[in-house]
This record gives sequence, structure tokens and C-alpha cells, in this order.
Amino acid sequence: MLIVMDAAATAEDIERVVGTVQALGLQAHPIPGAQRTAIGITGNRGAVDRTAFENLPGVTEVIPVSAPYKLVSREAKRENTVVSIGGVPVGGERLAIVGGPCAVESERQAIEIGKSVREAGATLYRGGAYKPRTSPYSFQGLGVEGLKILARVRAETGLPIITEVLDTETVDVVAEHADCLQVGARNMQNFSLLKRLGRIRKPVLLKRGMAATIEELLLSAEYLLAEGNYEVVLCERGVRTFADHTRNTLDLSAVPYVQRISHLPILVDPSHGTGKRAKVLPLSRAAVAVGADGLLIEVHNEPEHALSDGPQALLPEMFRELVAEMRRLAPVVGRTA
Ligand code: PEP
Ligand code: MN
Repeated sequence: MLIVMDAAATAEDIERVVGTVQALGLQAHPIPGAQRTAIGITGNRGAVDRTAFENLPGVTEVIPVSAPYKLVSREAKRENTVVSIGGVPVGGERLAIVGGPCAVESERQAIEIGKSVREAGATLYRGGAYKPRTSPYSFQGLGVEGLKILARVRAETGLPIITEVLDTETVDVVAEHADCLQVGARNMQNFSLLKRLGRIRKPVLLKRGMAATIEELLLSAEYLLAEGNYEVVLCERGVRTFADHTRNTLDLSAVPYVQRISHLPILVDPSHGTGKRAKVLPLSRAAVAVGADGLLIEVHNEPEHALSDGPQALLPEMFRELVAEMRRLAPVVGRTA
């Protein structure tokens, strides 16, 4: 259930509603919007008695939420959410361009790529220190050493850092070094990890699972918001289908679909979405045209020697051309890059 407050409702009015919710043994989530505050209620098993709220001062409307997700829905918040990752807004007018290697392999590699993506116009840097690999014999990432390198990349380039967290045990150390924690496709429904990340005060980049519906993606995001973390960015990265001409099938229709029902920003990852270097630029154009809030692009200075995902990594000069093209394309859809 959602309680919509009047535009003129006071802080005391909101507090009174929150207190009434808590007195029923439930959780209240005030979501301030540009026009009014909505208060989401979670923790109830059945319907909540709306009469407890209808006559409280400052309450305009009590809306039973039919969708299984509540806090991520447009019903809870009409305006787009803009998430700040280390001071860089994601979800506003300017496209977020995230660049970096799949994995941090060495300080030299990570910093060199960092400098080239920053010069090309990237607004955020992403590189993996903990890598989810299909084979236990593949490179698993540098771990804490990789996190320390990422902190040095930030110091050298000024770019905020996004990096993946694989499990609950490493949440604290990853949060200590990164500006945003990525939940990869394989962990989208790792509910204990989501609950734990819901209690940190750092943004989370939540990637769509390889076979997840949009409803499942939004319910995973709901876990984060329900625990109190509202700084969530979604990411379409392709789903597995019968098609084998690309690594995954990038589902660009997910973007306008998510934007209709949720206020959360959504990025597109054409690198994992296609798995092929030559397909990254064309699908980036399509992603921006369809309304994505930004792109997540893998870049490597020596892709042929990359320890993971080399075939989909752009060379730094290709990334530079991609950003230049997105800058020309963005104004067509009312954005900047
Ligand atoms: C990654 O971002 O490097 C990654 C492993 O992606 P995904 O979780 O989308 O497969
Ligand atoms: Mn990768």
C-alpha cells in the first residue's frame, strides 16, 4: 500500500503517518518526490486497513498497490530517480558512460585504460576485482589487491568506481573501496546478498539475470529498496535465447518497459549483451535511441591478451569514437553525453 501525502503536508504529518505504520508492526518508506511525498508500506502479509490512514492530516490518497513491487514502481514515485555515483548523476539528462576493463589485471593495465576512457569522455569507471567465472580454473580476479588498484584508478583519473561484489562476506571491503557495487547477472536473485546490500549506504548497479523477466528484475531491486537502499541503477545486459549469433540477446525493449513502470534509472550493457566487439557500437546507438540512461562498455588496451571477455572489449580508440558518436546522437533524444 502507498500513502500519498498532500503537497502541503508538513514534516510532522509525515512523521505521524510513519508512526502509525510502525505501530502496526510494519515498515514505512517515505519517498520524497518533486510534488509530494509518498510513503510505501512493507512487511504486511495481507491487506492493510486503509481507514487507519485516510483521515490523518496531510494524507491525500491511500492506494492499494496491485503490482508485486511497490517501492520501485512509478506509483510510489512519479519522477525519475537520479542516483549519484560518487557525485556523477545517473538517470538525469546527461547519459552515464561507464567504461573500463572486464577485470582489473594489473595496476598498469587498469590505470592506462582509466586514463584513456576518461580522456574519451567516460563519466564512470568499472572494472572487476572479484570475477564470477563459469570455470573455476579461469582468472577469478585480484580480490582486495584489485580493489586497492581501483582506488588508485579513481585517484589518478577522478572517475568514480563501480565494481562487482560476489558475496555477502566481501560487501564491507568492496563498499570501502568502491563508489557503487555491481550485482552481476548470476547473482540477481541472490537474496541474502541483496538484503545485505540494501543495508549499505552506497549505490548498487543491479544487472538483469540471464533468464530473468522484468518482473523478477524489479522484484530484486525491490529487495534493495525494502531494506532502505534507494540508490539503485538497473542494467539490461542481454538474456539467453536460442540465438547463437551473439553471446546473449540484448533486450532493448526492456528499457522503455522498465521506464514505464519504474522510476529507477536503467543502463544498457552492449558488451555482454552481444559478446562481440563489432556489435557494441551499433547496439549502443540503439540503446541511446530507445532511451537508456547510459551505457556500460568494456574496454581493453590489449584485448587479445585480456584475462576475461577479450572478444567483446573495445580498443581505447574505438571507445573514443563511440563516445563522440553518442555525443552527436544524444541531443536527438533530448539527452547530452
Ligand atoms: C561483468 O559485468 O563483467 C559481468 C560478468 O557481467 P554479467 O554479470 O552481466 O554477466
Ligand atoms: Mn565482462
